[in-house]
Amino acid sequence: MDTKAFKRSLNHSENYHRKGFGHQAEVNIALESEYQSDLIQKIRANSYTLTQGNVTIKLAESFGFCWGVERAVAMAYETRQHFPTQDIWITNEIIHNPSVNQRLKEMNVGFIEVQQGKKDFGVVGEKDVVILPAFGASVQEMQLLNDKGCTIVDTTCPWVSKVWNTVEKHKKNDHTSIVHGQYKHEETVATISFANKYLVVLNMAEARYVCDYILNGGDKQQFLTKFSNACSAGFDPDVDLERVGIANQTTMLKTETEEIGKLFQLTMLRKYNPVEINDHFLSFNTICDATQERQDAMFQLVEEKIDLMMVIGGFNSSNTTHLQEISIDRAIPSYHIDSADRILADYRLEHKPLKQDLVISDNWLPAGHITVGITSGASTPDKVVEEVIEKIFAAKG
Ligand code: SF4
Repeated sequence: MDTKAFKRSLNHSENYHRKGFGHQAEVNIALESEYQSDLIQKIRANSYTLTQGNVTIKLAESFGFCWGVERAVAMAYETRQHFPTQDIWITNEIIHNPSVNQRLKEMNVGFIEVQQGKKDFGVVGEKDVVILPAFGASVQEMQLLNDKGCTIVDTTCPWVSKVWNTVEKHKKNDHTSIVHGQYKHEETVATISFANKYLVVLNMAEARYVCDYILNGGDKQQFLTKFSNACSAGFDPDVDLERVGIANQTTMLKTETEEIGKLFQLTMLRKYNPVEINDHFLSFNTICDATQERQDAMFQLVEEKIDLMMVIGGFNSSNTTHLQEISIDRAIPSYHIDSADRILADYRLEHKPLKQDLVISDNWLPAGHITVGITSGASTPDKVVEEVIEKIFAAKG
């Protein structure tokens, strides 16, 4: 499929919308009352610190809703206003936050369900309205909805679209896209749908494995088994790694994306004549500012004297998990929760340790005066952060 031509024609279709519908004023009032927080504004204005009783709260200097998420949620609200009686669907969670998704369900927006590993688009009628979430949708899904004659409201963040354009450039130059990401993550699924040849690497260890193969060769079968879910059909590492370009899931750890890019660049420089490097390696900066700012603020926060860290965000939120990793690297007791409801009675806390299932911890709040560091992922409303802070204050009496 010529994905570029399809996207171009979609952009010109009258059934396709990438901007709001002129209801910003009403929608902003609703968003402010549902998601904003006076307490958080107060803490921001007070150098990101608040002490009450024997608890000092220190907020990261950048956290919570990013521009792309605010835009996507506002567009979804506007869509409901603009099509008050029509059936509206969304191809996935609008963002990785349970309270925001729940709110959309209450507004009668249907979520396309996954049946036996596949999304069931059979429920979508021909004239229905379908919202594409902030992290986008695969080009095949867009084509299916367009063929059905649906009205498509595309809230894909422009930063994600930038990565898609990068993948298009790789394809044009016959380079394989090396995508730093999680091959199952919705954003990466969308990104690779634009690629011709791709390989998804999760982390530096996988990148090293691939670069070692490029330089020294290796067991092809082992390679293909290792990346069986993470490469394009018919991928041949002996041929398809001769020309590579770097792309990323926008929510990955920025420093790791940069290191992976440098490693591939160095590898290609070692393997090929430096004069010909552009024939073998392409790299464009596609790291999202919001992800970078939240990670930088977290690196700053962990330098302070913090007794424990609360990391707030959806459990399937990649950028939240990376914030948690930064705290764990510094050996700070760190608790990832998705809402204040995880703070249970009797000093108990239900939380998700890194790469593990939910657990319940007792006595997680140390006695005496404590300093609690707080950050939240790009999909987390300030209101949720406020509720967590209020519960910590209450739990400490
Ligand atoms: S984290 Fe970045 S790429 Fe993702 S929605 Fe926010 S601004 Fe867009």
